[in-house]
Amino acid sequence: KGLIDLHEVGMTYQAASGPVEALAGISASIGAGEFVSLVGPSGCGKSTLLRIVAGLRPATRGTITVAGRTVTQPIPDIGMVFQAPILLKWRSILENVLLPAELAGKDPAKLRPRAEQLLEMAGLAGFGPKLPRELSGGMQQRAALCRALLLDPPLLLMDEPFGALDAMTRDDMALELLRIWGEKDLAREARKTVLFVTHSIPEAVFLSDRVIVMSARPGRIAADLRIDLPRPRT
Ligand code: ADP
Ligand code: ADP
Repeated sequence: KGLIDLHEVGMTYQAASGPVEALAGISASIGAGEFVSLVGPSGCGKSTLLRIVAGLRPATRGTITVAGRTVTQPIPDIGMVFQAPILLKWRSILENVLLPAELAGKDPAKLRPRAEQLLEMAGLAGFGPKLPRELSGGMQQRAALCRALLLDPPLLLMDEPFGALDAMTRDDMALELLRIWGEKDLAREARKTVLFVTHSIPEAVFLSDRVIVMSARPGRIAADLRIDLPRPRT
């Protein structure tokens, strides 16, 4: 049994023009601590699958379990990062990173040291008091990553988190992500499980333990590859 188990997951959207079959029976098991990339052409259902795993959208067929529980509603214990860094623009970077604490009814003051530690790891030391617009896109995306990690969720879902960045910033971010992900490294089980959607096959191979290739359309798993390369340690 994996941390995430997908059994014949299908999704058909009801669009104005008629039904759109986005996913045609996806079955896969993802173990705790695995870093899995999802790649495939635009429209093959990667975002749809991520949203279904997060419980943000119900599948129209099949079952999804996360940590042994059937997903029927948004699951609380996840960090999500989207393509655009969705930060509240009237709040400082630090206040944005602390947002999940507030939403979870925790005292943000208690989590402040952790937020500052994450900002420092992400190369944003000193930027906590700034407003998002004072930072570059790449920096904002790193802040969004810090926010996703604040409550130390065991599962991270990332939908092309570096998609809007230029190639060099992208590579930096990929390294940053590995560094943060490997923070409590060593035991695989202690690591976060990551589902990472990307358009870049090199990035997927560089970052992941496993690359799931999807084909369009409707989305199916065309290949499920284990990547056995030493990871760069930073
Ligand atoms: P990807 O992330 O791989 O680009 P998506 O999951 O965004 O793919 O989309 C998969 C397919 O489902 C596409 O054909 C897309 O147009 C369609 N789709 C996605 N969201 C909706 C929606 N809300 N209503 C109708 N069709 C949708
Ligand atoms: P992504 O960049 O993740 O592939 P899309 O551009 O496919 O995202 O979708 C962006 C938003 O538009 C999503 O909320 C998705 O559900 C919706 N959407 C995508 N395709 C369609 C569609 N054919 N009809 C209606 N909504 C769609």
